[in-house]
Amino acid sequence: MLAATAETIHATPLVAKMRTRVQADLPPLVDAIDTGELYPADFLRGIGDLGAFATFCDAAGGEMPADIDLNPAIDAMSEVSEICGATGFMVWCQNALVWYIANSDNAALKDKLLADSANARKLGGTGLSNPMKSFFGIEKMRLKGARVEGGYTVRGALPWVSNIGPDNVFGTIFELPDGKKVMFVADCADPAVELMDCDPFLAMDGTGTYGVNFKGAFIPDDMVIAHDAMPFVKKIRAGFILLQAGMAIGIMRDCIEIMQKMRPGLGHVNKYLAGQQPEDFARTLDEIGAEVRTLAATPYDASDAYWRRVVDARLQAGDATMACAHAAMLHTGARGYMKSHRAQRRMREAYFVGIVTPATKQLCKMLADIDA
Ligand SMILES: Cc1cc2nc3c(=O)[nH]c(=O)nc-3n(C[C@H](O)[C@H](O)[C@H](O)COP(=O)(O)OP(=O)(O)OC[C@H]3O[C@@H](n4cnc5c(N)ncnc54)[C@H](O)[C@@H]3O)c2cc1C
Repeated sequence: MLAATAETIHATPLVAKMRTRVQADLPPLVDAIDTGELYPADFLRGIGDLGAFATFCDAAGGEMPADIDLNPAIDAMSEVSEICGATGFMVWCQNALVWYIANSDNAALKDKLLADSANARKLGGTGLSNPMKSFFGIEKMRLKGARVEGGYTVRGALPWVSNIGPDNVFGTIFELPDGKKVMFVADCADPAVELMDCDPFLAMDGTGTYGVNFKGAFIPDDMVIAHDAMPFVKKIRAGFILLQAGMAIGIMRDCIEIMQKMRPGLGHVNKYLAGQQPEDFARTLDEIGAEVRTLAATPYDASDAYWRRVVDARLQAGDATMACAHAAMLHTGARGYMKSHRAQRRMREAYFVGIVTPATKQLCKMLADIDA
């Protein structure tokens, strides 16, 4: 490991436990996850036992402290992503679910789901891509709801939701006829919530990703995260985005190591890849890691300046991850072009960091809108 990447590795007790568990349990599963043969529910529950999803919340359902720090969650996620980006993404999905529930004012929802999701007894994710795109003028809201006695009914479909399955749950948002938005937890066990298989992806096939069709599903009030979603989204949006840094940091660390491993045999020619040496990416990783570390320590900062830095850091992280994986491919050459080498898997995973919401193009639009 390059000394320069020390900035992104934090020797906390959780990281030490995660490192041991991840490096023992995850490598034998990676290929099956990558090809979509395995959704690693047991692995996710195992790291849940270690505390990977309970870093920023009081699982007993109490008030969230104002000085919440998302760095331990990012550190834990980067340990997983260093081995497998798809599993790192599922760790993000689970963290996002816990982040929503933990921030909710709905005590009944917290009683019902906070402890179980923070301990990964209940697995799940988030369907915020469509709402997040709609809030920034990119597409229309796909889920429509109506108020009924004791809750809401919801219709519509989301094309992709990950880390779900027949017993899982996920947070998402629907729109009422008056345009008001409601954020809630959907229960995939409800017969009116239909999961639809997706066509195979370039990567991420083992992530429990489905299309979800709401056929007039009843959402009881105790599954509502926020009856008025917009102020709630403003509160959780920085955390939603910053947590994704765990994927970027982990994938970059491994790509840097891949490049280093090539040096004894191919360094005499790889050295001509100007600006694409492991030291170059280690420096970039340190800079991004330091910025994320600062921002993740204050996820409730409501200032415009903070929000701009969050969006910019996320854009930089995605760009750097794709560039680093691209360089790892060039350094490994024909070896990395073989399906048996992880360089090509890291490259496919890295592109996901650039396309998962907020995608690179959305982040560029957001920055343009902020600066206009
Ligand atoms: C493997 C995978 C897992 C994902 N997991 C989640 C998740 O857990 N939660 C979540 O909210 N989002 C998820 N997404 C969606 C993701 O976050 C992005 O929204 C998506 O990658 C597209 O983002 P974009 O900004 O590039 O939009 P674009 O691709 O530019 O546009 C997206 C829109 O194009 C249309 N579209 C394009 N291709 C298709 C298609 N094949 N089927 C249906 N509609 C299509 C849809 O209207 C869609 O909303 C996942 C996507 C993938 C590929």
